Amino acid sequence: MTTATQESAVLEQVATGLFIGGEWVEAEGGRTMTVSDPATGEVIKEIADASPADGIRALDAAVAAQDAWAATAPRERAELLRRAFDTLMARKEEFALLMTMEMGKPIAEARGEVNYGGEFLRWFSEEAVRITGRYGTNPEGTGRIVVSQRPVGPSFFITPWNFPLAMATRKIAPALAAGCTVVVKPAALTPLTTIAFVQLLEEVGLPKGVVNVVTTSGSSKLSAPIIADPRLRKLSFTGSTEVGRSLMQQAAQGILRTSMELGGNAPFVVFEDADLDAAVEGALLAKFRNIGQACTAANRFIVHESVADEFARRVAERVREMRVGRGTDDGIAIGPLIDDAAVASTDELVQDAVSKGATVLVGGSAVDGVGSFYAPTVLGDVSADARLLKEEIFGPVLGITTFADEDEAVRLANNTEYGLISYVFTQNLARGHRMIDRMATGMMGLNTGLVSNAAAPFGGIKQSGIGREGGFEGIHEYLDTKYTLIPNA
Ligand code: NAD
Repeated sequence: MTTATQESAVLEQVATGLFIGGEWVEAEGGRTMTVSDPATGEVIKEIADASPADGIRALDAAVAAQDAWAATAPRERAELLRRAFDTLMARKEEFALLMTMEMGKPIAEARGEVNYGGEFLRWFSEEAVRITGRYGTNPEGTGRIVVSQRPVGPSFFITPWNFPLAMATRKIAPALAAGCTVVVKPAALTPLTTIAFVQLLEEVGLPKGVVNVVTTSGSSKLSAPIIADPRLRKLSFTGSTEVGRSLMQQAAQGILRTSMELGGNAPFVVFEDADLDAAVEGALLAKFRNIGQACTAANRFIVHESVADEFARRVAERVREMRVGRGTDDGIAIGPLIDDAAVASTDELVQDAVSKGATVLVGGSAVDGVGSFYAPTVLGDVSADARLLKEEIFGPVLGITTFADEDEAVRLANNTEYGLISYVFTQNLARGHRMIDRMATGMMGLNTGLVSNAAAPFGGIKQSGIGREGGFEGIHEYLDTKYTLIPNA
């Protein structure tokens, strides 16, 4: 449990301004906005609220810094990222506490996010010095083909509230490694972690203008002119599919490179030959981590009819033990949802499923009192027409439906416009390999409920997005390929 003194010390250190061209400045007209703790509803910080003109000023700074940053030695960029990683690890507790205060996740999970978010700094510090090309003779034997990689250029990042640190570092680290400058706009609900992270970058030697941060309550108004500006070369967005679609339309005008990490509706398939203990552990992780507010959250539990009752019984037993409360308190498994609107929409999905025949095994309602809490919930016998099978739940609600054979499981699992991640539990090796081919998702957890790793390409297919973050693939989102022909002399 943290003390009020620890909490105010951490909040006190967070800057209140916009970070433009290496300076902390006020928003146009001195406008401000507030940030609240979703566990208490209390305002915890007042920060600058950027106007569209402030956004363009940030882009001006990124454009001004671009050429010099692209010309730095890869080793220099690598070492900046490495220093950022080391410093972040040294300050893990501060960052974890800040994230829990503005977003609500249990402090142990916030520490996990500092580790995960930090790994992108370490991974891309290692990748910065491995940007390569190729050199060869053309088939005619008349010249040399030279292929090289160049930084894309000034990039604009829009990040969501659910992983305040990792969604920022997953974009900033590869961009810096590749030699791109950046404007980042964090979510209005959780901007403090990004601000603190950029303060850290500044401290470890970030040159002026290479990363700029604009916090705003007017996301679309600020973003549109930046995206329309011909100097911008790249847009990377993590958030809902609906907003992603609109941003892609805007980006089409400038034929911008885009990376879109969008919504999910992950199936969690438990075959009759699964290790049920492992499936239960995986389910708890895939569903209740981040209070169910993850794009990778298991959304639909598709369980073989012969093991469904036993799986439901074991999961319900564990969920009943979960403690709900402020993420800073000891032993909390379920913190608050991000706001009251999220509680209302989660409850709507639960009541819809119940009205269509689902049985409530645990939970099933909001928690009375201060803060935006929803009881962790397990629903059995969810019918095929329930909304929670089609929509992203984004809350601590686990709904179970059944299947009879593998073909039906695959059909149910793939019956969605989303394609981010799937989870499959089976001890049959041949079936496991078959499911890699049959699941229509960009990622898959085979007998595990958590796959995220900075060394692996994260991303979706279908309406879950375009592009990959992390892995060897991640840096290529920020590099253009250039081909040069040199005729033989
Ligand atoms: P959101 O789409 O509402 O907002 C995301 C960001 O976009 C925020 O910064 C918001 O201020 C901004 N925004 C909203 N409308 C905008 C507009 N018209 N123009 C410009 N910017 C705008 O999503 P959210 O509620 O913050 O996050 C939850 C969503 O994000 C879920 O759908 C989740 O699946 C998705 N998500 C995806 C991934 C992934 O990697 N695929 C990771 C985390 C979250």
